[in-house]
Amino acid sequence: MEEDARTLFREAEGAIAAAGADLKALDAVRVGFLGRKGKLTALFKRLGTVPAEARPEAGRVLNEVKAALEERLAEAIRKAKEQAKRPKSVLDVTVPGRRPLSGRLHPITQTAMDIAAIFNRLGFETVEGPEVELDYYNFEALNIPKDHPARDMQDTFYVSDEVVLRTHTSPLQIRTMEKKRPPIKIIAPGKAYRCDSDVTHTPMFHQVEGLMVGRDISFGDLKGVLTVFVHQMFGPHVGLRFRPSFFPFTEPSAEVDIQCVMCRGAGCRVCSQTGWLEILGSGMVDPEVFKMVGYDPDEVTGFAFGMGIERIAMLRYGINDLRLFFENDVRFLRQF
Ligand SMILES: [Zn+2]
Repeated sequence: MEEDARTLFREAEGAIAAAGADLKALDAVRVGFLGRKGKLTALFKRLGTVPAEARPEAGRVLNEVKAALEERLAEAIRKAKEQAKRPKSVLDVTVPGRRPLSGRLHPITQTAMDIAAIFNRLGFETVEGPEVELDYYNFEALNIPKDHPARDMQDTFYVSDEVVLRTHTSPLQIRTMEKKRPPIKIIAPGKAYRCDSDVTHTPMFHQVEGLMVGRDISFGDLKGVLTVFVHQMFGPHVGLRFRPSFFPFTEPSAEVDIQCVMCRGAGCRVCSQTGWLEILGSGMVDPEVFKMVGYDPDEVTGFAFGMGIERIAMLRYGINDLRLFFENDVRFLRQF
Protein backbone atom coordinates (compact mmCIF):
# COMPACT_ATOMS: atom_id res chain seq x y z
CA MET A 1 0.00 0.00 0.00
CA GLU A 2 2.69 2.51 1.04
CA GLU A 3 4.77 1.45 -1.97
CA ASP A 4 1.76 2.00 -4.28
CA ALA A 5 1.25 5.48 -2.80
CA ARG A 6 4.90 6.46 -3.45
CA THR A 7 4.76 5.14 -7.05
CA LEU A 8 1.57 7.12 -7.57
CA PHE A 9 3.26 10.26 -6.25
CA ARG A 10 6.15 9.95 -8.73
CA GLU A 11 3.63 9.38 -11.52
CA ALA A 12 1.75 12.51 -10.48
CA GLU A 13 5.00 14.54 -10.35
CA GLY A 14 5.75 13.47 -13.95
CA ALA A 15 2.23 14.45 -15.07
CA ILE A 16 2.57 17.88 -13.44
CA ALA A 17 5.91 18.45 -15.17
CA ALA A 18 4.44 17.37 -18.52
CA ALA A 19 1.49 19.76 -18.11
CA GLY A 20 3.94 22.63 -17.71
CA ALA A 21 2.16 25.98 -17.67
CA ASP A 22 -1.02 24.61 -19.28
CA LEU A 23 -3.77 25.30 -16.73
CA LYS A 24 -6.23 22.89 -18.36
CA ALA A 25 -3.70 20.08 -18.31
CA LEU A 26 -2.90 20.79 -14.66
CA ASP A 27 -6.58 20.59 -13.77
CA ALA A 28 -6.76 17.25 -15.58
CA VAL A 29 -3.91 16.01 -13.40
CA ARG A 30 -5.79 17.13 -10.30
CA VAL A 31 -8.95 15.32 -11.38
CA GLY A 32 -6.92 12.26 -12.42
CA PHE A 33 -5.29 11.82 -9.01
CA LEU A 34 -7.35 13.68 -6.41
CA GLY A 35 -10.83 13.67 -7.97
CA ARG A 36 -13.65 11.43 -6.80
CA LYS A 37 -12.57 8.76 -9.27
CA GLY A 38 -8.91 9.73 -9.04
CA LYS A 39 -6.08 7.24 -8.59
CA LEU A 40 -5.13 8.46 -5.10
CA THR A 41 -8.78 8.52 -4.04
CA ALA A 42 -8.97 4.90 -5.14
CA LEU A 43 -6.06 4.05 -2.81
CA PHE A 44 -7.93 5.64 0.12
CA LYS A 45 -10.90 3.43 -0.70
CA ARG A 46 -8.65 0.37 -0.42
CA LEU A 47 -7.64 1.33 3.15
CA GLY A 48 -10.49 -0.81 4.47
CA THR A 49 -8.84 -3.95 3.07
CA VAL A 50 -5.60 -3.29 4.95
CA PRO A 51 -5.09 -5.39 8.13
CA ALA A 52 -6.17 -3.40 11.22
CA GLU A 53 -2.69 -3.23 12.80
CA ALA A 54 -1.11 -1.78 9.62
CA ARG A 55 -4.01 0.58 8.81
CA PRO A 56 -2.90 3.64 10.88
CA GLU A 57 0.55 3.67 9.26
CA ALA A 58 -0.92 3.21 5.74
CA GLY A 59 -3.42 6.00 6.40
CA ARG A 60 -0.63 8.32 7.55
CA VAL A 61 1.43 7.67 4.39
CA LEU A 62 -1.60 8.20 2.12
CA ASN A 63 -2.42 11.50 3.83
CA GLU A 64 1.21 12.60 3.49
CA VAL A 65 1.22 11.81 -0.22
CA LYS A 66 -2.11 13.59 -0.70
CA ALA A 67 -0.88 16.73 1.08
CA ALA A 68 2.37 16.73 -0.88
CA LEU A 69 0.54 16.26 -4.16
CA GLU A 70 -1.90 19.08 -3.40
CA GLU A 71 1.01 21.34 -2.57
CA ARG A 72 2.85 20.52 -5.82
CA LEU A 73 -0.30 21.11 -7.86
CA ALA A 74 -1.05 24.42 -6.16
CA GLU A 75 2.51 25.59 -6.82
CA ALA A 76 2.36 24.56 -10.52
CA ILE A 77 -1.00 26.31 -10.98
CA ARG A 78 0.28 29.47 -9.29
CA LYS A 79 3.31 29.58 -11.65
CA ALA A 80 1.16 28.91 -14.72
CA LYS A 81 -1.20 31.77 -13.81
CA GLU A 82 1.76 34.12 -13.27
CA GLN A 83 3.24 33.23 -16.65
CA ALA A 84 -0.07 33.82 -18.41
CA LYS A 85 -0.11 37.36 -17.04
CA ARG A 86 3.39 38.18 -18.38
CA PRO A 87 3.66 39.83 -21.84
CA LYS A 88 4.41 37.36 -24.63
CA SER A 89 7.58 39.05 -25.93
CA VAL A 90 10.06 40.69 -23.66
CA LEU A 91 11.77 43.92 -24.69
CA ASP A 92 15.47 43.41 -25.23
CA VAL A 93 17.11 46.81 -24.95
CA THR A 94 20.46 45.44 -26.14
CA VAL A 95 19.22 44.61 -29.67
CA PRO A 96 20.79 47.12 -32.13
CA GLY A 97 18.25 49.58 -33.58
CA ARG A 98 17.13 49.56 -37.19
CA ARG A 99 18.78 52.46 -39.00
CA PRO A 100 16.25 54.41 -41.12
CA LEU A 101 17.18 54.61 -44.82
CA SER A 102 18.02 58.17 -45.72
CA GLY A 103 17.13 59.57 -49.13
CA ARG A 104 19.39 61.71 -51.22
CA LEU A 105 19.10 64.19 -54.05
CA HIS A 106 18.66 62.85 -57.57
CA PRO A 107 21.84 63.48 -59.61
CA ILE A 108 19.83 65.76 -61.94
CA THR A 109 18.57 67.83 -59.00
CA GLN A 110 22.05 67.92 -57.49
CA THR A 111 23.61 69.04 -60.78
CA ALA A 112 20.94 71.71 -61.32
CA MET A 113 21.57 73.06 -57.83
CA ASP A 114 25.33 73.04 -58.34
CA ILE A 115 25.03 74.87 -61.68
CA ALA A 116 22.73 77.47 -60.14
CA ALA A 117 25.10 77.86 -57.16
CA ILE A 118 28.01 78.77 -59.42
CA PHE A 119 25.98 81.47 -61.14
CA ASN A 120 24.47 82.64 -57.83
CA ARG A 121 28.01 83.32 -56.63
CA LEU A 122 28.49 85.45 -59.75
CA GLY A 123 25.42 87.49 -58.78
CA PHE A 124 22.80 85.71 -60.88
CA GLU A 125 19.38 85.32 -59.24
CA THR A 126 17.49 82.01 -59.62
CA VAL A 127 14.00 82.38 -61.15
CA GLU A 128 11.29 79.87 -62.10
CA GLY A 129 8.35 79.90 -64.49
CA PRO A 130 5.47 77.78 -65.82
CA GLU A 131 6.07 74.55 -67.72
CA VAL A 132 2.74 74.94 -69.54
CA GLU A 133 3.56 78.05 -71.49
CA LEU A 134 1.96 80.41 -73.97
CA ASP A 135 3.17 80.06 -77.53
CA TYR A 136 3.98 83.77 -77.26
CA TYR A 137 6.61 83.34 -74.55
CA ASN A 138 7.98 80.08 -75.90
CA PHE A 139 8.32 81.26 -79.51
CA GLU A 140 6.96 84.63 -80.66
CA ALA A 141 8.70 86.88 -78.15
CA LEU A 142 11.94 84.96 -78.70
CA ASN A 143 11.93 86.00 -82.34
CA ILE A 144 10.45 82.72 -83.56
CA PRO A 145 7.21 83.79 -85.32
CA LYS A 146 4.70 81.26 -86.62
CA ASP A 147 5.93 79.68 -89.87
CA HIS A 148 9.50 80.47 -88.86
CA PRO A 149 11.71 77.56 -89.97
CA ALA A 150 13.33 77.50 -86.51
CA ARG A 151 10.10 75.99 -85.15
CA ASP A 152 10.97 72.83 -87.05
CA MET A 153 14.07 72.51 -84.86
CA GLN A 154 11.86 71.85 -81.87
CA ASP A 155 9.24 69.12 -81.85
CA THR A 156 6.62 70.81 -79.73
CA PHE A 157 3.87 69.34 -77.56
CA TYR A 158 0.87 71.59 -78.26
CA VAL A 159 -1.84 71.86 -75.60
CA SER A 160 -3.84 74.13 -77.91
CA ASP A 161 -2.97 76.52 -80.77
CA GLU A 162 -1.71 79.09 -78.29
CA VAL A 163 -0.51 76.90 -75.40
CA VAL A 164 2.48 74.55 -75.41
CA LEU A 165 4.63 72.59 -73.02
CA ARG A 166 7.68 74.82 -73.01
CA THR A 167 10.38 73.45 -75.32
CA HIS A 168 13.14 75.29 -73.45
CA THR A 169 13.55 77.45 -70.35
CA SER A 170 14.16 80.52 -72.54
CA PRO A 171 10.63 81.94 -71.92
CA LEU A 172 12.01 83.02 -68.53
CA GLN A 173 14.12 85.60 -70.40
CA ILE A 174 10.96 87.30 -71.66
CA ARG A 175 8.97 86.87 -68.44
CA THR A 176 11.79 88.42 -66.42
CA MET A 177 12.45 91.33 -68.76
CA GLU A 178 8.73 92.16 -68.93
CA LYS A 179 8.68 92.57 -65.14
CA LYS A 180 12.03 94.23 -64.47
CA ARG A 181 14.23 96.95 -65.87
CA PRO A 182 17.96 96.33 -66.46
CA PRO A 183 20.40 95.45 -65.03
CA ILE A 184 19.27 91.81 -65.03
CA LYS A 185 21.23 88.72 -64.07
CA ILE A 186 19.12 85.56 -63.83
CA ILE A 187 19.56 81.82 -63.94
CA ALA A 188 16.47 79.68 -64.65
CA PRO A 189 16.69 75.92 -64.08
CA GLY A 190 13.67 73.75 -64.90
CA LYS A 191 11.95 71.09 -66.98
CA ALA A 192 11.37 71.37 -70.72
CA TYR A 193 9.49 69.10 -73.14
CA ARG A 194 9.95 67.98 -76.70
CA CYS A 195 8.23 65.27 -78.69
CA ASP A 196 11.42 63.30 -79.06
CA SER A 197 12.56 59.99 -77.61
CA ASP A 198 15.64 57.93 -78.42
CA VAL A 199 18.97 56.98 -76.83
CA THR A 200 20.05 60.61 -76.46
CA HIS A 201 16.64 62.31 -76.06
CA THR A 202 13.80 62.05 -73.57
CA PRO A 203 10.39 63.78 -73.94
CA MET A 204 11.03 65.60 -70.65
CA PHE A 205 14.45 66.99 -69.87
CA HIS A 206 16.05 69.71 -67.78
CA GLN A 207 17.62 72.96 -68.84
CA VAL A 208 19.27 75.92 -67.27
CA GLU A 209 18.75 79.27 -68.94
CA GLY A 210 20.88 82.29 -68.13
CA LEU A 211 20.49 85.95 -69.00
CA MET A 212 22.53 89.04 -68.29
CA VAL A 213 21.35 92.45 -69.52
CA GLY A 214 22.69 95.92 -68.83
CA ARG A 215 24.65 98.76 -70.28
CA ASP A 216 27.76 97.78 -72.22
CA ILE A 217 27.44 94.04 -71.75
CA SER A 218 29.72 92.56 -74.38
CA PHE A 219 30.63 89.21 -75.89
CA GLY A 220 33.68 89.44 -73.62
CA ASP A 221 31.38 89.29 -70.60
CA LEU A 222 29.70 86.22 -72.08
CA LYS A 223 33.04 84.52 -72.53
CA GLY A 224 34.22 85.51 -69.08
CA VAL A 225 31.12 84.29 -67.23
CA LEU A 226 30.93 80.99 -69.14
CA THR A 227 34.67 80.37 -68.70
CA VAL A 228 34.31 80.81 -64.94
CA PHE A 229 31.35 78.41 -65.00
CA VAL A 230 33.21 75.71 -66.96
CA HIS A 231 36.26 75.94 -64.73
CA GLN A 232 34.20 75.73 -61.54
CA MET A 233 32.07 72.88 -62.89
CA PHE A 234 34.70 70.74 -64.60
CA GLY A 235 38.01 71.92 -63.19
CA PRO A 236 40.35 74.88 -63.72
CA HIS A 237 42.43 73.19 -66.42
CA VAL A 238 39.60 72.20 -68.76
CA GLY A 239 39.91 74.02 -72.09
CA LEU A 240 36.88 75.51 -73.85
CA ARG A 241 36.14 77.00 -77.24
CA PHE A 242 33.37 79.10 -78.75
CA ARG A 243 32.01 77.95 -82.10
CA PRO A 244 29.76 80.16 -84.30
CA SER A 245 26.19 78.92 -84.35
CA PHE A 246 22.62 80.08 -84.88
CA PHE A 247 19.72 80.67 -82.50
CA PRO A 248 16.74 82.88 -83.42
CA PHE A 249 16.93 84.89 -80.20
CA THR A 250 20.68 85.62 -80.13
CA GLU A 251 22.97 87.34 -82.60
CA PRO A 252 25.80 86.56 -82.86
CA SER A 253 25.44 83.06 -81.42
CA ALA A 254 28.02 80.59 -80.24
CA GLU A 255 28.08 77.04 -79.07
CA VAL A 256 30.51 76.24 -76.30
CA ASP A 257 32.63 73.10 -76.35
CA ILE A 258 34.79 71.84 -73.53
CA GLN A 259 37.78 69.56 -73.77
CA CYS A 260 36.55 65.97 -73.51
CA VAL A 261 36.40 65.04 -69.82
CA MET A 262 36.92 61.36 -70.66
CA CYS A 263 40.08 61.54 -72.78
CA ARG A 264 41.22 65.09 -71.94
CA GLY A 265 41.23 66.05 -75.60
CA ALA A 266 43.08 63.02 -76.98
CA GLY A 267 40.01 61.66 -78.78
CA CYS A 268 37.73 58.83 -77.70
CA ARG A 269 34.36 57.25 -78.38
CA VAL A 270 32.48 59.74 -76.16
CA CYS A 271 33.77 62.76 -78.10
CA SER A 272 33.71 60.95 -81.48
CA GLN A 273 37.51 61.22 -81.59
CA THR A 274 37.33 65.04 -81.79
CA GLY A 275 38.59 65.73 -78.26
CA TRP A 276 35.72 68.23 -77.74
CA LEU A 277 32.24 68.03 -76.22
CA GLU A 278 29.45 70.51 -76.86
CA ILE A 279 27.86 71.62 -73.60
CA LEU A 280 25.83 74.76 -74.19
CA GLY A 281 24.45 77.35 -76.57
CA SER A 282 24.87 81.07 -76.09
CA GLY A 283 24.88 84.44 -77.78
CA MET A 284 24.21 88.16 -77.56
CA VAL A 285 20.50 88.89 -77.08
CA ASP A 286 18.95 89.73 -80.47
CA PRO A 287 17.74 93.38 -80.67
CA GLU A 288 14.37 92.04 -81.87
CA VAL A 289 13.91 90.30 -78.50
CA PHE A 290 14.65 93.55 -76.64
CA LYS A 291 12.03 95.33 -78.76
CA MET A 292 9.43 92.71 -77.77
CA VAL A 293 9.83 93.56 -74.08
CA GLY A 294 10.11 97.29 -74.59
CA TYR A 295 13.85 97.64 -74.05
CA ASP A 296 15.81 100.03 -76.28
CA PRO A 297 18.51 97.98 -78.09
CA ASP A 298 20.56 101.18 -78.39
CA GLU A 299 20.57 101.54 -74.60
CA VAL A 300 21.12 97.99 -73.39
CA THR A 301 22.88 94.86 -74.51
CA GLY A 302 23.07 91.42 -73.02
CA PHE A 303 23.86 87.79 -73.46
CA ALA A 304 21.91 84.59 -72.92
CA PHE A 305 22.86 80.95 -72.68
CA GLY A 306 21.18 77.62 -72.18
CA MET A 307 22.40 74.14 -71.35
CA GLY A 308 20.98 70.67 -70.81
CA ILE A 309 21.36 69.55 -67.21
CA GLU A 310 21.34 65.84 -68.16
CA ARG A 311 24.26 66.49 -70.47
CA ILE A 312 26.25 68.21 -67.75
CA ALA A 313 25.43 65.46 -65.22
CA MET A 314 26.46 62.71 -67.68
CA LEU A 315 29.84 64.35 -68.30
CA ARG A 316 30.36 65.11 -64.66
CA TYR A 317 29.59 61.59 -63.38
CA GLY A 318 30.79 59.67 -66.45
CA ILE A 319 27.33 58.24 -67.25
CA ASN A 320 26.84 57.02 -70.80
CA ASP A 321 23.11 56.28 -70.89
CA LEU A 322 20.59 59.09 -70.50
CA ARG A 323 17.79 56.67 -69.58
CA LEU A 324 19.47 55.78 -66.26
CA PHE A 325 18.39 59.17 -64.93
CA PHE A 326 14.72 58.39 -65.46
CA GLU A 327 14.45 54.71 -64.57
CA ASN A 328 15.13 55.59 -60.93
CA ASP A 329 16.73 52.28 -60.05
CA VAL A 330 17.85 52.80 -56.45
CA ARG A 331 21.04 50.81 -57.11
CA PHE A 332 21.96 53.51 -59.64
CA LEU A 333 20.78 56.45 -57.51
CA ARG A 334 22.62 55.25 -54.38
CA GLN A 335 25.95 55.79 -56.14
CA PHE A 336 25.74 59.57 -55.85
ZN1 LIG B 1 37.05 62.08 -75.61
